[in-house]
Amino acid sequence: MKPFPIFEKINIQLERAAGCFVYDEKQQPYLDLYGGHAVISVGHTHPKVVHRMVKQLQQLAFYSNTVQNELQTSLAKRLGEMSGYPDYSLFLSNSGAEANENALKLASFFTGRKKVLCMSNAFHGRTSAAAAATDIACNRAPVNESSHYFFTPFNDISSVRKQLETESYCAVIIEPIQGVGGIHVASDEFLRQLSVSCTQTGTMLIMDEVQSGYGRTGHFFAHQHAGVQADFVTVAKGIANGYPMAATMISPRIKAISGQLGTTFGGNHLGCAAAIAVLDVMENEKLIENAARVGTFLIDELKSIDAVTEVRGRGLMIGVEFEDNIATLRHQLIFDEKIFTGYAGAYTLRLLPPLCFTMEYAEIFLSSLKKLLRGK
Ligand code: PLP
Repeated sequence: MKPFPIFEKINIQLERAAGCFVYDEKQQPYLDLYGGHAVISVGHTHPKVVHRMVKQLQQLAFYSNTVQNELQTSLAKRLGEMSGYPDYSLFLSNSGAEANENALKLASFFTGRKKVLCMSNAFHGRTSAAAAATDIACNRAPVNESSHYFFTPFNDISSVRKQLETESYCAVIIEPIQGVGGIHVASDEFLRQLSVSCTQTGTMLIMDEVQSGYGRTGHFFAHQHAGVQADFVTVAKGIANGYPMAATMISPRIKAISGQLGTTFGGNHLGCAAAIAVLDVMENEKLIENAARVGTFLIDELKSIDAVTEVRGRGLMIGVEFEDNIATLRHQLIFDEKIFTGYAGAYTLRLLPPLCFTMEYAEIFLSSLKKLLRGK
């Protein structure tokens, strides 16, 4: 047997990582501006997270959700307080897709409705309901096709209103900053009007913060720039700095009903230990503030580069659009400059570095990028 090929692969074998660097088998360091799809929040192999996980692994890595788990209670309390959702409840699972599936399920259970309003260009995952809510045709098999999902243009409030006022939707699901779709930011005004429209029509608002959340944009959640609150917030990626974990944060209006949700692995002891350590590090090292500061600097500097046609994003979630196809540029960044970046489509570099990314690293990236662009 061999691995089923999924993404197009960079021909580099990584052996270890630390902070904002990954190292290949020859110990060549690469500056990481991608964090393995925004997963590395507090820095690769952060010693406090590693220490906490090793201790937990030696003590108790897993038992099912049929026993009390004090770590889940501590994590829920801590995450609620730090994220500004102290009275919400927390359902833990293993991936961003699952977090969205469970939010959609609960919204449908609670409202008794079936239809979901989704945004053009959205990405919510690759499983059943998450795939149906994703605006990428090749991600949807016939088994994922459903007439319950309707797509409306992103950032267009009149289309949203028209839908919500003429049909009964259980939920609107939205990424406050679209990640896979190319780093497109929902305007604050759009999010505010969307929230009002949901309240007026009894529709649940699901904020998919899987990529944009966990401090990346300079607030705990990207939708908080608009001052709105959601009925569900879904998180994954950065929550445990690389240990597979996800969460659905649930409005206190929704009461748990036995049998509706469940999971084998979700919320296990090892994952909770990692997630608590991540929150400790974020707070102690003021990483949300750092993301805002370094992100603003990067965005401003990138805007001043001639070859760049547009810079989108907030904090350390940045899309840099070029007039030309970026395939060669990305290849040169990796192999000549030893810098990892991501992409969204053929023209946009996607930058999602760890939240501990420094000004000095930002300067290194900018000077490498400018050097490559000059040489074209
Ligand atoms: N939602 C968003 C906004 C994402 O960016 C992703 C993954 O990139 C997902 C959901 C799916 O997460 P996962 O791959 O962990 O299922």
